[in-house]
Amino acid sequence: MSITPLMPVYPRCGVRPVEGDNCHLIDEDGTRYLDFAAGIAVNLLGHSHPGLIGAIQEQAAKLMHVSNLYGSPQGEELAQKLVDTTFADTVFFTNSGAEAVECAIKTARAYHQHAGDENKFELITFNNAFHGRTMATISASNQEKMHKGFNPLLPGFKYVDFNDLEGAKAAIGPNTAGFLVEPIQGEGGIRPATPEFLQGLRQLCDEHDLMLVLDEVQCGVARTGTFYAYEQYGIEPDIVASAKGIGGGFPLGACLATEKAARGMVIGTHGSTYGGNPLAMAAGMAVMNTVANDEFLGQVRAKGERLRARLEQFIGNYPDLFESVRGAGLMLGIKMKVEPRPFMVHLRDNHQLLTVAAGDSTLRLLPPLVIEDAEMDEFIEKLSAGAADFEVPTGS
Ligand SMILES: *Cc1c(COP(=O)(O)O)cnc(C)c1O
Repeated sequence: MSITPLMPVYPRCGVRPVEGDNCHLIDEDGTRYLDFAAGIAVNLLGHSHPGLIGAIQEQAAKLMHVSNLYGSPQGEELAQKLVDTTFADTVFFTNSGAEAVECAIKTARAYHQHAGDENKFELITFNNAFHGRTMATISASNQEKMHKGFNPLLPGFKYVDFNDLEGAKAAIGPNTAGFLVEPIQGEGGIRPATPEFLQGLRQLCDEHDLMLVLDEVQCGVARTGTFYAYEQYGIEPDIVASAKGIGGGFPLGACLATEKAARGMVIGTHGSTYGGNPLAMAAGMAVMNTVANDEFLGQVRAKGERLRARLEQFIGNYPDLFESVRGAGLMLGIKMKVEPRPFMVHLRDNHQLLTVAAGDSTLRLLPPLVIEDAEMDEFIEKLSAGAADFEVPTGS
């Protein structure tokens, strides 16, 4: 037998972390890495946050899981906190981002179909989007590499260019239920939606009674310096899928909706065995209590601006390698003039700096939101040393 016990779907690298220490990861052979990947925008409080660890330990000892057949004081508390913090009136808890997007898709379809409009099932989505790996969420993305081997896809998705408002408008038809869009494309390469684009989609939704569904799985939960990224666009969505940072490392996702948007999500229409269990709620509450306040969000914005300024200054030294810096808050990307993957590998293997490659030739920087100047200094040092001794692979 040659298949590995861990199903070999990931190109796993040689870094094998066994311990976290705030913004660093420690490998099984003792090597320390500066973690500017943060589990891909998950570990927003780093790896040693006493509030998060304490909340999980305390809740684990008390009660980890009960069925959603029972009342949930823990779920009510976190849902209320999310409702108080955002546009939403109601929340469904999931265990992952893809499930949060699934719930968002179902909510958008049910909005129309619950009112008797059976034909409105199609979501217009955007090229190079990433919404997860379930059948519905791969169908919601135009990326062929995620479809291969898994056909047939689920019907009900139409793809248009990101930031192409005219294209989005032209795609509206009798079957359109709404738009599904990332305010800042993450896997697609830290590409922010333009204000005109998101505001235009909002307006189209208002005009045509469509659902504006935002996938904030990566850009949400304080990452960009506001609790959700949509706040920076001066619009309110109908439905938001959230996950990644929301559990700070504990598996947790959420689908948020207005009362109007959730009109189809009545008793018996949706569910999840684990979703919203007391342990996940304790983790989510610890995260919310830390990040959902003006002081923390202001710090994220300030750190983001400092990091961005330093990056912009730095990339000028290597005009052959780097093109520009983009993103918001601590969701930053360096658009490169060469393939980002070999550079990411070089930073990792030769300078013990963890980053993430993304689409559109972009190197993603997603540090824990609790980084301080010391980690920022260390990051710039490692990045500078990495750029100085990087040899562009031939053919790249
Ligand atoms: C990561 C991600 C998802 C999927 O989340 P999972 O927890 O891996 O299912 C969906 N949408 C976006 C924008 C993401 O970045």
